[in-house]
Amino acid sequence: MKSIKTDVLIIGAGLTGLTLAYYLKNSNIAVKVIEARHAPGGRIKTKYPAHQAPIELGATWLMEQQTAALSLLKALHIPIFEQQYGRTAIYHPNHTQGRQLVELPENNSVSYRVKGGTYSIIKALAETLSEGTISYNQSLHSITLQANGLKAITTDVTYHCNHVVSTLPPLLFLKTITTIP
Ligand SMILES: Cc1cc2nc3c(=O)[nH]c(=O)nc-3n(C[C@H](O)[C@H](O)[C@H](O)COP(=O)(O)OP(=O)(O)OC[C@H]3O[C@@H](n4cnc5c(N)ncnc54)[C@H](O)[C@@H]3O)c2cc1C
Repeated sequence: MKSIKTDVLIIGAGLTGLTLAYYLKNSNIAVKVIEARHAPGGRIKTKYPAHQAPIELGATWLMEQQTAALSLLKALHIPIFEQQYGRTAIYHPNHTQGRQLVELPENNSVSYRVKGGTYSIIKALAETLSEGTISYNQSLHSITLQANGLKAITTDVTYHCNHVVSTLPPLLFLKTITTIP
């Protein structure tokens, strides 16, 4: 089994994992990210059909209160635009009923979309990291506390590190990762 040393090991290459890797790298801290799937993004997924606007299948809107996300976008030079809400929407309750046009109430809160699709954030963050920082198809199985640090075992690699940061939903972590002790 391959063995790799790093200061911080991040589990998951979604928005949280990549953002943390970006900030740690900017602070000159050695970091590796492991991702169970073959690509980054997690719950952020944008479809790019040819000659059409991008379609969001995951995270879509940003609000003014999401100040950390907005400053990250600024730092990465990713533009945003204001969501335009019309006065009508198509409502399709279920497959046995037809589609209906419904009138929307007045919307006073501003929300934003990411130009080029939310996945632009993932692409931009991944591009800031040095080659080899993110490893795909690597599922974390266990974390063991040892006298000289932590040992984290994935499908085929053993990581020796000082810190492990999980970005998994807590229940998924609990159900799929063994921690010793
Ligand atoms: C349909 C939908 C719409 C949404 N709309 C909005 C919105 O409009 N605005 C908004 O702010 N938020 C929205 N969200 C929420 C937003 O997408 C999430 O909060 C955010 O993407 C979570 O990012 P994360 O990195 O914390 O987690 P995740 O994206 O879940 O990343 C965790 C990563 O860990 C990986 N992983 C899992 N197990 C392992 C393992 N054992 N080893 C290694 N890797 C592992 C996963 O494959 C995944 O890539 C939406 C979510 C969905 C699903």
